[in-house]
Amino acid sequence: MTRPVLSLSIFLTACASFSVGQAASKPPNLTDAAISAQARSIHDSALIIDTHADTPQRFLDEGFDIGSTDPNDIGHISLDKVRRGNLGAEFFSIWVDPTTNQGHFAQHTFDLIDSVYEQATRHPDRMMMAFSVADIERAHKTHKLAALMGIEGGHSIENDIHLLRDYYRLGVRYMTLSWSNTNEWADSSGDINDPKIQHHNGLTDFGKQVVLEMNRLGMMVDISHVADKTFWDVIATTKAPVIASHSSARALCNAPRNMTDDMLRAVAKNGGVVDVNFFSGFDDQNYWDASEAQAKERDAAIEAALAKKRAAGQPISYLDEDRIEREWGAKIPRPPLKSLIDHIDHIAKVAGVDHVGLGSDFDGMSGATPEGIDSAADLPRITQALLDRGYSADDIHKILGGNLLRVFREVERVSQGLLEAPSQLHAIAH
Ligand SMILES: [Zn+2]
Repeated sequence: MTRPVLSLSIFLTACASFSVGQAASKPPNLTDAAISAQARSIHDSALIIDTHADTPQRFLDEGFDIGSTDPNDIGHISLDKVRRGNLGAEFFSIWVDPTTNQGHFAQHTFDLIDSVYEQATRHPDRMMMAFSVADIERAHKTHKLAALMGIEGGHSIENDIHLLRDYYRLGVRYMTLSWSNTNEWADSSGDINDPKIQHHNGLTDFGKQVVLEMNRLGMMVDISHVADKTFWDVIATTKAPVIASHSSARALCNAPRNMTDDMLRAVAKNGGVVDVNFFSGFDDQNYWDASEAQAKERDAAIEAALAKKRAAGQPISYLDEDRIEREWGAKIPRPPLKSLIDHIDHIAKVAGVDHVGLGSDFDGMSGATPEGIDSAADLPRITQALLDRGYSADDIHKILGGNLLRVFREVERVSQGLLEAPSQLHAIAH
């Protein structure tokens, strides 16, 4: 999820990409024509894992059914699109807007978790809940989408380690320590320069305990979104490899939530994986600059629309912001697919090909993907582009999912070694 914390202008979102009309008029087999037989064969023999999609908000707020075959639907994920893209596993993001859910973060977290289970219940022939490496492999063998869950933002645990464990028991297998908002134990890159926010110089002692408890449970620690100092505190604390579920490279696009080359090398040393975000604002400097330039006006437009709804006593959902962000994003030229592939390539060169993967941010960026990527159905284009750059079939398989599977397996192994020891943690922060 790339939506801004409202009133902040350093985060953005928007859709430069496509209007409903364009999406509808796209020939259904365009993707297939652009993919060579060799790329198709490499792609179809891969176990493809994406570590970040915000579709649960669509499930909950729009009543969207993942089985939808509506040709006018502009969403990135449906079971049909998943099948066409040979996507094997998706980590569905459990993202609780910290502004509109004040006072009931946990309740909304549970509602979103429920929405993912409900979809799996509706479509048992094509989708199954998955909680482990073994589950992902089992789903792949039976040609079903493995549905996993990651919580995006540590505020969901309400400073309570019991809740963290409950989320694990419900199947959550990673947690992004912060979203764009600094919480009470982890600084975020999204508001690190805002003097009105109380910061902690990275992770608090409780924050470090959260990381260790996640190691013990076997929940992957996700460092996307966190402030730089938080990242380094995590690296110094964790006993297991970490993931960046949806982050790109700062050397190529200077967004504060992208990762520096030093961070990329640290993740490599830690044995983790950085899964590249498909959002044009994080992958293309021109897009980022154009979006920054319109941030003030765009945020004011969003504020005005929300204030109008509030005054009328109407409920506010993410859709209200999403609609306006798409309008503003449509004013910015859509970057080429090369922008996204450059990030995969850069991280593979700096951190190594064992430490890069896919973290699309599908359905969480108001449609702002590069040319050629309109949905999960277009994933074969990434395989084609990597093949064109000289990547071997083995390396492409690692990038498409093998690396994440290795990290997840190691996180499970570390957890096995730690579980016998009783938790020494304080239950509540402060
Ligand atoms: Zn996000």
